Amino acid sequence: METFRIEAVVLDTKNFGDANKVVTLYTKEYGKLEANAYGCRRSRSPISGAMQMFNHISAELSRGAQVDTIREADILNFYDALTKDLERLAYASLFFEIVNRMTLPHEKSAETFYLLKNSLPVMSERNPKVAALIGACQFMETSGEQLNFSRCVRCGEEILGDAGISLTDGGAVCMNCVDYVGDCRPYPDALRKTFELMLSFDWKDGTRLNFKSKQLDAAEKFFIEYVQYILGSELKSVQFIREFLSI
Ligand SMILES: [Zn+2]
Repeated sequence: METFRIEAVVLDTKNFGDANKVVTLYTKEYGKLEANAYGCRRSRSPISGAMQMFNHISAELSRGAQVDTIREADILNFYDALTKDLERLAYASLFFEIVNRMTLPHEKSAETFYLLKNSLPVMSERNPKVAALIGACQFMETSGEQLNFSRCVRCGEEILGDAGISLTDGGAVCMNCVDYVGDCRPYPDALRKTFELMLSFDWKDGTRLNFKSKQLDAAEKFFIEYVQYILGSELKSVQFIREFLSI
């Protein structure tokens, strides 16, 4: 039996059978992979604690013809607040769902692994909405679906002051070009600065998390619309955010 070790963040879990889960892991070594965790819903299972969403774990897996199997797992870090506080749960779920839906199995990116890992303590202790939006913004930059926040998507001019922004063209549109782009919506100067701050945010220096709520709401609205436009379907966690947080 071929076995291998991984360090990972648990992106998602789904129950199957009486006591099993299939877990989606974002690993440092292999990118995203799914594995079966047999018996892990029994309280005596030695891997039950580790197989929870948002955990940072190390694990030993055995290679399967179709799906790998978790043999052993240890928790490296866990974040209680993310499952107990509804707002934290909702926004952490949003960020994790975006990463899960926009990555393919075995598409390896150490950047994505560290982004997930570094975002967890911030989502658990600081403003979860800000942290999740920063995480999603930074993830999109490396996903091949990045938005152009600072230059006009049509003519390449640097955006200064108020402008437009387009979902279909993937970013900012300068005032000279707004009439040529179909789905342009307002892109105030303050919203561009919010996105630029989010992109340059350093997770190790959590001091700069102050954003105006109006800009934050606008950033959230635009960003969710963009991701859903790319995916062509609604994100589950968005329904959750709307239902439970009445946004
Ligand atoms: Zn332009």
